[in-house]
Amino acid sequence: MKICFIGLGHMGAPMAANLARCGHQVIGFDIARPAVEGVTLADGAAEAATGCDAVITMLPDGQILRSVYADIITVGAANALFIDCSTVDIASARWAHGQARARGLRPLDAPVSGGISGAATAALTFMVGGEEAAFTDALGIFDAMGKRAVHCGSAGAGQAAKICNNMILGISMLAVCEAFTLADRLGLDRQKLFDVVSTSSGSCWSMNSYCPAPGVGPHSPADNGYRPGFAAELMLKDLGLSQDAAEDCAAPTPLGAMATTIYRDFVASGGRGRDFSAVLETMASMGRGDRP
Ligand code: NAD
Repeated sequence: MKICFIGLGHMGAPMAANLARCGHQVIGFDIARPAVEGVTLADGAAEAATGCDAVITMLPDGQILRSVYADIITVGAANALFIDCSTVDIASARWAHGQARARGLRPLDAPVSGGISGAATAALTFMVGGEEAAFTDALGIFDAMGKRAVHCGSAGAGQAAKICNNMILGISMLAVCEAFTLADRLGLDRQKLFDVVSTSSGSCWSMNSYCPAPGVGPHSPADNGYRPGFAAELMLKDLGLSQDAAEDCAAPTPLGAMATTIYRDFVASGGRGRDFSAVLETMASMGRGDRP
């Protein structure tokens, strides 16, 4: 297929390279103009998107997505797949669907889980919203960049699944960090806490696979000076999206709200650029009543 890829950053560049590796012709555009293996760079978004069977976007936020879509939906070939893999607010995702559908294009919102390493190794999970037929036709594209694609429902359903998943992740990481902090104060060895919890009812991905305590559990960013991984500010972005969505549909998410506040404070006080699990270090140095 001839595929346009717009937004060749930490995630987009390896995803575009994997599409090229699978034999697709990939035309890329990014305002930073990075060189990406196998990808031919165009001078603008509209030039890149013209005449392509599929147009993939991997951009920082909903506002940028809207401005890029304003440039490219007018040049999309009839029936082209317009797949947005960025994590954006649900309103922008639905707006993008509406704009694309009005032009006879086939839109999908398809945010990903798996991070930079998943993008590099084509091991991403795609959560997809949009029409079933478009999803089915995009499966070959998802296969080239990931290991799993789940059709979650209609327009915006992929973004809904993404923010629900990451709200659980943000809350569960804080729960695990609190448990290690309490264990420290109680004189309980961190390794012993891991041995018990990872095989008990408190087990979860944050404890078992991404343990925030250095030297405990499988290798994780904690064993690498908390280099991301998944940066705290990206967790804050996703928690913010979950709270905006919860506000719009009047869903009660008190723990999500508290997690957002904790990560906002953490990012503002030195957490930016560190893995989101580094909140353990801050918590471990606090007194009762303080907040990270
Ligand atoms: P990034 O900042 O590395 O990449 C974004 C790219 O978009 C940059 O290269 C930037 O130059 C480009 N860009 C910005 N405005 C543009 C425009 N108008 N036209 C063309 N290009 C433009 O970010 P990233 O880490 O690759 O993340 C991309 C998206 O994926 C975000 O929505 C993020 O939330 C999501 N995501 C990231 C991760 C992660 O671990 N990094 C994991 C899952 C999802």
